[in-house]
Parts: sequence; structure tokens; C-alpha cells
Amino acid sequence: MISNEAKNGRFGEFGGQYIPETLMNEIHKLEEAYEHYKNDPEFVAELDKLNREYAGRPSLLYYAEKMTRDLGGAKIYLKREDLNHTGSHKINNVLGQVLLAKKMGKTRVIAETGAGQHGVATATAAALMDMECEIFMGEEDTIRQALNVYRMELLGAKVHAVKTGTRVLKDAVNEAMREWVSRVDDTLYVLGSVMGPHPFPTIVRDFQSVISKESREQILEVEGRLPDVVIACVGGGSNAIGSFYEYIKDDGVRLIGCEAAGKGVDTPENAATMANGTKGIFHGMKSLFCQDEYGQIAPVYSISAGLDYPGIGPEHAYLAETGRAEYVPITDEEAVRAFEYLSRTEGIIPAIESSHAVAHVMKIAPEMSKDSIIICTISGRGDKDVAAIARYRGVDIYE
Ligand SMILES: *Cc1c(COP(=O)(O)O)cnc(C)c1O
Repeated sequence: MISNEAKNGRFGEFGGQYIPETLMNEIHKLEEAYEHYKNDPEFVAELDKLNREYAGRPSLLYYAEKMTRDLGGAKIYLKREDLNHTGSHKINNVLGQVLLAKKMGKTRVIAETGAGQHGVATATAAALMDMECEIFMGEEDTIRQALNVYRMELLGAKVHAVKTGTRVLKDAVNEAMREWVSRVDDTLYVLGSVMGPHPFPTIVRDFQSVISKESREQILEVEGRLPDVVIACVGGGSNAIGSFYEYIKDDGVRLIGCEAAGKGVDTPENAATMANGTKGIFHGMKSLFCQDEYGQIAPVYSISAGLDYPGIGPEHAYLAETGRAEYVPITDEEAVRAFEYLSRTEGIIPAIESSHAVAHVMKIAPEMSKDSIIICTISGRGDKDVAAIARYRGVDIYE
């Protein structure tokens, strides 16, 4: 068994705190506050109440009987994070972080967003908990995701279009980090995935590990044993680490992360960090990144905006290096087929991100025995993706 507790903010050699001196003090305060509140019964009870009464937890562990029969192998269970308030696992993390910000005496939260999902979730939690909220979003993304910009504004947030770099997610992270440095007194940066400097990868993982805490209890209750395989999609890696975490100590449970291969891992258009990435330091952490020979972060591509990040969380880099988890690339075409398949077979339209995990279930379930069990996390619902999938199939509809 390997230990996965961060030591000095590191998972093996990955992680760490590569940040400007001016932020060090604030990061230490955050570390201290988190260490205190995570064991504070009042904080734990408040978060639990928010999870139950606001987010709708526990999420269902659904036995996909038709899919199981159709694929003809392993029993398939779906962990339904798509049923959470705001439609994905992101709410698990933002409720925790915004509550933490409030306890720390902050009155303002900021966040980065790519497609807008983490921005919408943060704006939601900020509205609920009476916090000022500002969201940084690449200018390109504000144009592509105009509906989410309006949604965040409806929720009372201010959206900044970031005009630096390539004007996408990685630039939004840079800008949010810069903004935080310039105003730490009343502000907490609510990071959207298991990335960035320590303690963010640990904080986000802990808030997301509610997924595997529940699924472990649920599967033990219905099947009387642990699953053989747990599968989740990986962008930065927060729904995957949340889905894996409680099983890391169970050597018999295979953990599989599905990353975005876009048009193929050997084409320039993908976001497959595990397949193509190399070690580097970016966004405050040491991890694996898609980069060129000079260490410049490479432009990445996926049909799924939520998996379109040029790096991966440090704990995943460590799980891959130690062999505890496996990571597989899934192409756009495979994900779109899985999106359509789950919709038709079970009447569940998954997010295109989650469809990457479903695609891998479709590959391995038929080859597994009928008494084996797979748990696949459906990280979000697919309503947001319907127009893009239609476009992919050559059908033009209004968004
Ligand atoms: C944001 C998002 C992802 C990717 O983020 P992770 O941190 O890798 O989980 C996956 N699925 C959905 C539905 C998302 O909104």
C-alpha cells in the first residue's frame, strides 16, 4: 500500500508551492485555516448540511442494467454527480471552499473558469453565502460560452474577460492568481480542480472525496463487496481523485482515469497529458504538462471544454508514476459515441467530459466476467453539450 498523504505539500516529487513570495504568507494562512476547520465539528456539520439540503447529496449509485445487459460483461454502476445542484461534481468543491473563505473572515471570492462551469458553481455558492464574486475567463471563452457569462452575472458575479496570452483557461488561472496576490486581505481564490500550489490539490481532493465515501458505502450495501474497477474522466483531475480516493488503500480496486485524446494522441490536437506530457512547473505546482521542447505550454484541444487543460493534478502524476492508477486516452469520436450510447440506452445524457469515462467502460466491460463490478462516475449532465454534439454530427441547432 502506498501512502497518498501529501508530505510538505508533495505527492512524491509532484506538487509543492511555486508561488511569488508575496503570496506565501496568505497560502500559509490558508493551510492553517484548512487544517483547523477540516476537523472542526461545526464546519463539518455545516458543510454536510449544505451537501444534503442544497446540493442534493448523497448522489445516486445507479445500476445501469440495460447497459450491463447490452455490453454483456461486468455489472455497471453509475455514480450520478450529474444529479447535483448546478449539474456536476463542481458544487462539492465550491461549497467547501466558499464556506472556508467565510470562516476565514473573507468577504470576496475569485475564481478562474474555462467553459464556465466552475465559474457558475462558484457564483452559485457565493450568492448563497453572501460573498462578493469575481470570475476570470479567457476572452475567447467568454465569446464561445456567452450563455455561461450571463448565468454568472445573473447569480451576481462580475466576469472579467482575460485578454492576455491565448485568452483561454490557462491565462484565466494566471490572471486570477495575479488578482489574488494584489488583494489577499478580503479575498480567497477558489480553485476549480486538484491543481495549483499546495494546499489546493489537497483541499479540493478532500471536498471531492465525498464521491468515493458515498460510493464505497453504497456498493457495499447493494453488492456486499468493493468494485473491481473505478473509472472517471480527468481534466485537472478533481472528479477522478474524488472518485478514487477512498479506494486507494484497496489494492484490489483498479483505478482508471480517462483523458482527452481529442483528434488522437499522435495529432497536434489533444489534451492527453499522461500520454504526451512531461515534467514541469506551472500554475504553482510541479506536475506533468503538455509542453514544447522549450518548456512552453502547448495549446491543447478537446471537444470537451472541461478536459481542455494542459496539465494534470500532482496527485494523479504520483498515482500514475507509482502504478496505483492507470490513465487512458479517449478520442472525441469515442466520447461522442458514448454520449449517444448512454442517452439511448439508459435515458441519461452525460456531460461530454463524463462521456470519456463511459467510452472506456464500453471498451472493457464486455471483456470482464459477469460477476465483476465497474463504478463509473458521471461527473455532470450533458444538456450544455447538446448543441455542440449536434454540430459535430453536422446538424445546426440554436443554443
Ligand atoms: C470541470 C468538469 C470536468 C473536469 O474537471 P476535473 O477537475 O478533472 O474533474 C469533468 N466533468 C465535468 C462535468 C466538469 O464540469
